[in-house]
Amino acid sequence: MTKRVYNFSAGPAVLPVEVLEEARENLLSLGDTGVGIMEHSHRGKAFVAVYEEAVSLCRELAAIPDNYHVLFLQGGASSQFFMLPMNFLPKESTADYLVTGSWAKKAVAEAQRFGNVHVAGSSQDRNFCYIPSDCSYSDDAVYTHYTSNNTIFGTQFATVPDVACETLVCDMSSDIFSRPIDVSKYGVIYAGAQKNLGPSGVTLVIIRDDLVQQGPTDIPTMLQYRTHADNDSMFNTPPTFGIYIMGLIFKWIKARGGLAAVGEQNRDKAGKLYEYLDHSRLFNGTADLESRSQMNVTFVTGDADLDAQFISQSEAAGFSGLKGHRSVGGMRASLYNAFPTDGVDALIEFMKRFEAEQG
Ligand SMILES: *Cc1c(COP(=O)(O)O)cnc(C)c1O
Repeated sequence: MTKRVYNFSAGPAVLPVEVLEEARENLLSLGDTGVGIMEHSHRGKAFVAVYEEAVSLCRELAAIPDNYHVLFLQGGASSQFFMLPMNFLPKESTADYLVTGSWAKKAVAEAQRFGNVHVAGSSQDRNFCYIPSDCSYSDDAVYTHYTSNNTIFGTQFATVPDVACETLVCDMSSDIFSRPIDVSKYGVIYAGAQKNLGPSGVTLVIIRDDLVQQGPTDIPTMLQYRTHADNDSMFNTPPTFGIYIMGLIFKWIKARGGLAAVGEQNRDKAGKLYEYLDHSRLFNGTADLESRSQMNVTFVTGDADLDAQFISQSEAAGFSGLKGHRSVGGMRASLYNAFPTDGVDALIEFMKRFEAEQG
């Protein structure tokens, strides 16, 4: 088999080897059923057990209260950008949005198709390199939406923003289950799986029951949360393989000690790289100190040609996916849950050597 390299991709991203190995075993036959995991009917006993275990581990890991539904939807996090306002932002009403990056901007653009958007805070003035602290919320917002981790810009909310509105909605696509979550503070949490939870093609949605009940009934059936909540995510054929892998990831997180333990591991991993960046005379982090992400570490040399040299040498040395997003430039090391600590150590050694060679 080809050697696996250190994969810093922002998404789809690295998955734990143990999970991939277990999935490989079950591709041809799920347990002793003689039918592969992708070939089982979603209505059959074997897959229903897979589904039930995934939901139950998800609830256990995040201590999800009973009045929340756990849904597995399709269409990516990007479909939640419109599904949320379609359900909860009637014409003439207002939702507050914190605009901390490109994904938040896309969410705003979709919400504006349905109702009013009030931008309660933004960091666009400095190309999204920080998390805004002085936000002005409206009195009558039907919900407040924010993006907990800004995948492209390498910033992250250190804590849950303190908002007046009862219904806090969060796009957690790139940091879900990377640290403990207090689900009771939210109305809706959603995340495309491909960063921290599994393969692309499945979106985890955790939604409070009163919101599900309050949603409209005159929009397409598939776009009502009620449809999925009432049918255990099986109104139509769900993304069965994605749900299976997500369940394995939940099991893997549990074996590592749960969200608090994984959170500490993530802090240590990112902390090492930030410490090196803070002492480096060549590389600089692009995010403000107090807004730094534990998931996506963005950095530059300040010279685009040198950045390009670094990226091409890093690829030759067996580091994949370090090129930053074009809107920031430079480099981005995505250190999701499954990214190994020894990969961070190896990257730092490589950066030190590169720095030394520059004199
Ligand atoms: C990747 C990402 C998205 C887009 O997810 P899709 O599943 O591709 O639609 C949305 N929000 C954030 C924060 C992301 O990192």
